[in-house]
Amino acid sequence: MRPMERAIPATLLRGDGIGPEIMDASLDVLDALGARFDWDDQQAGAGAYEQTGDPLPQATLDSIRKTRLALKGPLATPVGSGFRSVNVRLREAFKLFANLRPAHTYVHGGRFENVDIILVRENTEGFYVGFEHYIPVGDDPRAVAEGTGFNTREGCRRIAEWTFEYALEQGRKKVTIVHKANILKVLTGLFLDTAMEVAERYRGKIEVEDKIVDNCAMQLVLNPSQFDVILTTNLFGDILSDEVAGLVGGLGMAPGGNIGADAAIFEAVHGSAPDIAGKGIANPSAVLLAAAMMLDHIGEQQRADVLRDAIERVIDDEGVRTGDLGGSASTREYTDAIIRRVRNT
Ligand code: NAD
Repeated sequence: MRPMERAIPATLLRGDGIGPEIMDASLDVLDALGARFDWDDQQAGAGAYEQTGDPLPQATLDSIRKTRLALKGPLATPVGSGFRSVNVRLREAFKLFANLRPAHTYVHGGRFENVDIILVRENTEGFYVGFEHYIPVGDDPRAVAEGTGFNTREGCRRIAEWTFEYALEQGRKKVTIVHKANILKVLTGLFLDTAMEVAERYRGKIEVEDKIVDNCAMQLVLNPSQFDVILTTNLFGDILSDEVAGLVGGLGMAPGGNIGADAAIFEAVHGSAPDIAGKGIANPSAVLLAAAMMLDHIGEQQRADVLRDAIERVIDDEGVRTGDLGGSASTREYTDAIIRRVRNT
């Protein structure tokens, strides 16, 4: 493919453990695709903590604030440091209200064929606000545990509008709003009602339905191909996004995007896999799929499709697979196979 005319500034976080290996693989593949990025290489995670005393240094935040775009490797959480999760800090710093988790069948012959679901999780409200405390009774200081969540009309509208626009842009046909408004009538009722109001504006363009979360969880494992786009709240989205990853071969194939008002950060969903770090056997697919989402985000959908197709063809037609997918290819061998495919497109 002809290289992009202009290099796009973006922040690169190689991350910990297998991070540098799979990020190097991704940079080589992006090069082969002619996807030009002006990378600002920054640190985050355990490595950054060792060197700077902060797993999310100010220079990294400044870089993302400038580029508004990042590709992030897995970050190990420094154990016992007392620091808050880097992911939560990034979410807050850049108002990353939409967590986007696509699940697509790339590895055929597994439990489910033809899964092609986009799950959108509201990322900033709901039960994840963490307002909780104990209420002492008698001499038991932890006799009662109380937790509160909140959803705002503005937050519900923002995620619903974003989801319907995204669905339209991606040529999707149906949005399923997932909630528990039969029991949590206020908290998730507001989410459902607001999302339905937004859906009304897309009548005739996008079909809409709603499902109660427990039924949705069951339907996903009975007949996943009935789902197209799922829109849900923070806690339900956290759980269901791992469930949809499980439908298509687990975390090794699961990318994620965190998108907000001030930036968009793309990543593999899995962690730093310390047990296989440095061995050259990690599967780079999840971060490659995250790179494809990043290409979609900057309007380079054609390159993104070429990359996704190459992944499917290499895994399926050529049978080149890393160990986690039952094969014996090294990270390098798998990456080279993808690069050959991309160059021949
Ligand atoms: P993990 O996802 O790193 O590993 C779980 C298992 O999956 C391991 O056996 C690992 O070898 C395997 N695995 C993961 N990714 C793989 C890949 N690309 N190719 C082949 N095999 C792969 O989860 P963990 O061991 O619980 O966590 C390790 C560290 O990662 C922890 O410090 C945790 O906090 C961190 N973590 C970070 C993120 C993130 O940055 N988004 C997400 C989850 C965990």
